[in-house]
Amino acid sequence: MTISLWQRTPSHETEQCDVAIIGAGISGLSAALELESRGIRCIVLEADYAGSKASGRNAGYLIRGAAENYALASQNLGRDMARYLWEWTQQNLIGLKQLGLESTPGFAQRPSCVVAIGDPEHSELIESHRLMTEDGLHVSLIEPGNAPDDSLWRSGKPTLGLLNPEDAVCSPIDLVQLLAASLSTTPVFEHAEVYRIEDDGNRIRIRTRPVDVVCSRVLVCTNAYASELIRDLDGIITPNRGQMLAIKPDDPSDADLEFAYYLNHGSEYVRAAPDGQIIFGGARTYHAEHEQTSADDVSDEVQGHLEQFVRELITENYQVTARWSGIMGFSPDGMPIVTQTKVHTLDNPNVWFCGGLTGHGMSMGYQTGRHAARVMLEDEPTRFGLDRFAQA
Ligand SMILES: Cc1cc2nc3c(=O)[nH]c(=O)nc-3n(C[C@H](O)[C@H](O)[C@H](O)COP(=O)(O)OP(=O)(O)OC[C@H]3O[C@@H](n4cnc5c(N)ncnc54)[C@H](O)[C@@H]3O)c2cc1C
Repeated sequence: MTISLWQRTPSHETEQCDVAIIGAGISGLSAALELESRGIRCIVLEADYAGSKASGRNAGYLIRGAAENYALASQNLGRDMARYLWEWTQQNLIGLKQLGLESTPGFAQRPSCVVAIGDPEHSELIESHRLMTEDGLHVSLIEPGNAPDDSLWRSGKPTLGLLNPEDAVCSPIDLVQLLAASLSTTPVFEHAEVYRIEDDGNRIRIRTRPVDVVCSRVLVCTNAYASELIRDLDGIITPNRGQMLAIKPDDPSDADLEFAYYLNHGSEYVRAAPDGQIIFGGARTYHAEHEQTSADDVSDEVQGHLEQFVRELITENYQVTARWSGIMGFSPDGMPIVTQTKVHTLDNPNVWFCGGLTGHGMSMGYQTGRHAARVMLEDEPTRFGLDRFAQA
């Protein structure tokens, strides 16, 4: 983004801090909490309002792992990395509970169930169960004969489910508000889009319309919008739109889904939501080219596809209550990226990035944001650096 001469606010406030965090989604707010707990003076700068982007628009799954099942993740990332990632997401939920997430209104301790509709996913789930059990990860299999009597299983489509008993769901906006409310010394400036980062003698000056911030270090947590500020993440963090649909079945019992379901290698997901509604998301993979966008909009194609899933898997009789989209920041391997980086407008080693949480920032963002803060302080090594792509 650029700002015209006329758009600049004439009497600018200038704030000073140690670390400026750009972006008040889950990543940025979690990083701020960690820095604040270490006595570091931070400021969070947010273009819109806290939780306005992916962090306030997602499906609210606090699911262990990543998009692919454990067997495929072990193949793609290596067994050790898959296990590390699954444990990472377990720790994420433990941390959020310690912060008080369980007492937010939208929280429910609801197991997630990865569902296969035939092969090859059916065989992959059997293999995932074997590998996860070997790796000490608590998991079980559900077959149609011992499945709960809910509309998804009654559809007759699922052939197998892999149950993660400790998973949960929540309202994403509750989670963002919990993170923001847990900050005590860090101001969050909303409607403060960063349009330039520049040299200020031996410090860094960050320009937004309402305020300038002069700081020693910057942590960029702008997710899908990373490449607007950062030069070396172009083509590495890519914007991908996720669309969602909320419906209310005419028969209220159709809304009683026992688990938070995840289908077609994570391409689709469906779960019960408040007030007898069901939320359905995904179908992006069938229209992948069009969905590689940062436009906040819904398309007839994806929404039509989602409604087709509703009719096949839940019910023919329903009303649509909401449609929306959110923009995810994808990394090439679906794992977070935590790295020292360079912005377009400044050559300074004290700029860091945390993001690329792909479709799993609820499940790993709290853990990753806090980790990024420690990595920046050189208190912790990271397995999420860009060097992994060079090695690959
Ligand atoms: C439809 C959908 C469903 C999803 N479902 C799930 C799910 O069920 N479970 C799960 O684990 N994950 C899910 N995700 C993914 C999850 O929402 C994201 O991974 C996570 O929210 C990313 O958090 P973040 O803080 O990195 O990014 P964001 O929430 O996108 O925050 C980035 C912030 O940076 C701000 N910003 C950008 N540019 C600037 C600038 N120049 N100056 C200042 N501020 C700026 C933005 O306004 C934004 O608030 C889903 C995502 C979508 C879109």
